[in-house]
Amino acid sequence: MEDIIGYCGLDCEKCDAYIATVNDDQALREKTAKLWSELNNAPILPEHINCEGCRMNGAKTVFCDSLCGIRKCALNKGVSTCGDCPKLDNCQTVRSILENNPSALENLKG
Ligand code: SF4
Ligand code: SF4
Repeated sequence: MEDIIGYCGLDCEKCDAYIATVNDDQALREKTAKLWSELNNAPILPEHINCEGCRMNGAKTVFCDSLCGIRKCALNKGVSTCGDCPKLDNCQTVRSILENNPSALENLKG
């Protein structure tokens, strides 16, 4: 499994926060902060848009660092991703991500 794949199987390389961070793209940070503020009804600022990947060392967004229940659960269980977890097939925590993102499930199984 590539390190840049998140615990849930999503590909962090496709996330605008990751792309803005690795390219130090301030315009993309501003655009992403605006969009995420609207989607989450929360005051997300451009300086919050810094993330080097869910399973990587380095910067994380507040969501990835402290709010995502999937990441917390996987860290607590000590699995390398949900793909290594014996509860995956019946897991309600990661289910909606996998139902809405078939490629995430492929990444976990692959
Ligand atoms: S922070 Fe959560 S949603 Fe984002 S890639 Fe990691 S496990 Fe998936
Ligand atoms: S219980 Fe669910 S969220 Fe937690 S590590 Fe297993 S598959 Fe992932």
